Amino acid sequence: MSIQKISFEESLEKIVSDEKCMGCAACVVCCPLNSLEYVEGKPKLVGKCTACGICAQLCPQYALPRQAMEKFVFGREKTIEEDFGIYRRIVIARTTDERILQVCQDGGVVSTLLTVALKNGIINGAVVSGISNEKPFYPVPKLVTNPEEVLECAGTRYSYSPNMLAFREGVKDKEAKLAFVGTPCQINVIRNMQMLPLKKYAKALDFTIGLMCTETFTYEGLMEKHIQGVMGIDLQNVTKINIKGKILVATKSNEVKGIPLKVAKQYARKTCDLCTDFSSELADISTGGLGMTGWTLTILRTKKGEEMFEYAQRKGLLEIKPVEQEKRAVNLLIRLSKLKRRKQL
Ligand SMILES: Cc1cc2nc3c(=O)[nH]c(=O)nc-3n(C[C@H](O)[C@H](O)[C@H](O)COP(=O)(O)OP(=O)(O)OC[C@H]3O[C@@H](n4cnc5c(N)ncnc54)[C@H](O)[C@@H]3O)c2cc1C
Repeated sequence: MSIQKISFEESLEKIVSDEKCMGCAACVVCCPLNSLEYVEGKPKLVGKCTACGICAQLCPQYALPRQAMEKFVFGREKTIEEDFGIYRRIVIARTTDERILQVCQDGGVVSTLLTVALKNGIINGAVVSGISNEKPFYPVPKLVTNPEEVLECAGTRYSYSPNMLAFREGVKDKEAKLAFVGTPCQINVIRNMQMLPLKKYAKALDFTIGLMCTETFTYEGLMEKHIQGVMGIDLQNVTKINIKGKILVATKSNEVKGIPLKVAKQYARKTCDLCTDFSSELADISTGGLGMTGWTLTILRTKKGEEMFEYAQRKGLLEIKPVEQEKRAVNLLIRLSKLKRRKQL
């Protein structure tokens, strides 16, 4: 694919100043001259720009070639009826691994797939989001290489984690075979990298797991200002945060306190309002909780994704229940996908 020559100043600087930047860090990671730095969640030009155009080409906010990417992944574009993208099969699944079940967000499908892929040499690393040592629930991009690390990174942090930065770490190993876990905006960038292709990254990527995502919240707003400040909960005492109709904050004293989504909205990142993809439509596998407790709604989209899932199932590490038993979750998937897609029109 040919890349339009354009400088960072002419393209992405405007995206940043217009507050449209998602902070995915793809431009920073892929600048061939390493002229961009990731500063306060945004790219900053700190070196020479030769207007190669790669940063603009990759940016999910500049000119995302959505239809071309669908063709690249699935061999065709999605139809208007395919509310949440192209897929092969939907399953309601959960892990059979007790240790994962204790720390995962929903059914532990993501951590189980990564674990089985690592243990069996399908991948030698996975790009996920870990937790900062200093700030509870503050997400940090992380490259994990063994099941113990996968376990440490399980669960959801609802603030933005530029996982692309960990992908850059991963591809330094020329033998890397990586899985990438991320939000829809990040999966889109990954597919764009594969399609171009940016060979170093495309070669290292084995499969992608997309997380369904309505929006992300600023850490300073949701965690520090609201949960700590307004609700008076010491963040060190928070054991889990989940969203099931409202934001549920569980603490060490086994209490669960709720924050209405209308109240939390003030802390949502404004750029997330520009996103039109709820269910990570270009991932090999998409996962979401969708109001269920202890189960992950799992969309197997590509052959690779389906094979990975079936492999874990054959090893007895994932169990499923009929999707008909969770009609509400599927209806919610359709509703949230349509809501986001409407922004495109
Ligand atoms: C910001 C955000 C918003 C979400 N919003 C929704 C929603 O509106 N509706 C819905 O149904 N599902 C949503 N999800 C997905 C849901 O929370 C679960 O991640 C998903 O159901 C998988 O659960 P699991 O138990 O299989 O995953 P687990 O086995 O617990 O694994 C979760 C994986 O996600 C990674 N991760 C955690 N936080 C982040 C982050 N901030 N960015 C990138 N990776 C991360 C972890 O490192 C881990 O590998 C959201 C996830 C995120 C990160």
